[in-house]
Amino acid sequence: MILSNYINGEFCHSDSKDFLEVINPATEEVLSKVPLSSAAELDKAVQAANDAFPAWRRTPVVERAKYLFKFKSLVEENFDEIAKILSLEHGKNLLEAKGDLRRGIDNIDVACGMPSLMQGENLEDVGRNIDCVSTRRAMGVFAAITPFNFPAMVPLWFMPYAIATGNTFILKPSERVPMTQQKLFELWHQVGLPKGVINLVNGGKEIVTGICEHPLIKGVSFVGSSPVAKYVYETSAKTGKRVQALGGAKNFLVVMPDADLEQTVNILVESCYGCAGERCLAGSTLVFVGDAYEKFKEPIINRVKNLKVGNGLEADTDMGPVISKQHKEKVLSYIEQGISEGAELIVDGRIGYENTKGYFLGATVFDMVKPDMVIGKEEIFGPVLCLMKVDTLQDAIDIIENHPLANTTSIFTTSGKTARDFTYNVEPSMVGINIGVAAPMSYFNFGGAKGSFFGDLKAHGKHSIEFYTDRKVVISRWF
Ligand code: NAD
Repeated sequence: MILSNYINGEFCHSDSKDFLEVINPATEEVLSKVPLSSAAELDKAVQAANDAFPAWRRTPVVERAKYLFKFKSLVEENFDEIAKILSLEHGKNLLEAKGDLRRGIDNIDVACGMPSLMQGENLEDVGRNIDCVSTRRAMGVFAAITPFNFPAMVPLWFMPYAIATGNTFILKPSERVPMTQQKLFELWHQVGLPKGVINLVNGGKEIVTGICEHPLIKGVSFVGSSPVAKYVYETSAKTGKRVQALGGAKNFLVVMPDADLEQTVNILVESCYGCAGERCLAGSTLVFVGDAYEKFKEPIINRVKNLKVGNGLEADTDMGPVISKQHKEKVLSYIEQGISEGAELIVDGRIGYENTKGYFLGATVFDMVKPDMVIGKEEIFGPVLCLMKVDTLQDAIDIIENHPLANTTSIFTTSGKTARDFTYNVEPSMVGINIGVAAPMSYFNFGGAKGSFFGDLKAHGKHSIEFYTDRKVVISRWF
């Protein structure tokens, strides 16, 4: 199957001669081919979106919301099929695939409330007989560039809000997992939005640069690795765009000696190995404070050794493959690096997965990791967990504070005071207390700090309404 773009209300084949194979990471079977579209094709989509904008902005907000209600019903009707496509192209297990889609749907739900959400403000008598009204106004064409790890959810962090506020939209999904969005665009097509309101352009770097530089695009949302986030932020800013660029992560989970044993072990293992560690909120390093190391280490290792690795479509699979052959090689090179740096490899996930069909890797644990080791510093984005041991909570906070990325962190404790001290003092902007994956719901803002986020306004929640609208203030006096 050759995937299409969706431009001006129609599915169209790309003119490109360059295609990438979309490969099932569990079987290495070729599922489809995705075009690496050209800048000219992007331009066609931008022109269509720009032409559609004036009429779409004038469409009453409640009517715009009705298209989203219809889309939501179609997604629910096709829920299992979409989750299966997602699992096939990404590798995550079906439960995780359903969670990915469910979190995406949550955003449609919130955006359906746009008639209330995008209301403005007013005040009488800002001067004698002078009134003031502040309205929110759609701005034009917006675009989003999304990563491979949440093929349904991340695009839905943006598109429903962009169009419900009255903007028009272009999506460039990850070329590694384009099939979920292909299916979702088939459903959008059934919704019958006016032509040009939403557009799908498949591609790679050329489309990313084209989006950042296109003079008609007013704002760009990006989610992916930090170097590309920074590139998108800087390049888009040169043409005066609004940008929200969410980058990579290295997440530290702090475990206090008083934490509940059984619950904490389950939560930690799920955080570190769910979606094969390919979550931007995945726990990457466990920092044990004081006696917590002795209390938690063995139960965690026992649990890790019981994780079932396999095809995500099989019912009992805990952990599917990583996304690609290249990514598996990258994760393996981090394991080599950890050994050469002197960390103790106490669970070796390479064993049994040397020559598998499919990009499988077992759960791996390194002990005695130091913050200045490469495996202690860099985002591995795979099923490799690092253990660190420190004396005090402040030592743990220092490790977090000295790291250039700051997406999320969590603490595990039964003490309210310890939890309060921790949340108050750490810089990552998504913080969990006895939570392994502190993912804000769609009605709160999502995004990190420091090198994990470039921009001002984060994804979804109230920030989304700010991001997609300009504030217009009208001051009036009538004689
Ligand atoms: P990636 O940066 O490789 O790709 C993201 C997007 O950028 C894709 O659409 C891709 O086509 C494009 N791209 C890739 N390389 C490019 C380049 N050199 N120039 C221009 N465009 C380029 O990221 P990924 O591997 O797809 O996703 C994993 C990363 O995303 C991890 O670092 C993860 O932490 C991060 N992530 C962050 C969040 C968050 O909320 N902060 C959420 C999900 C994923």
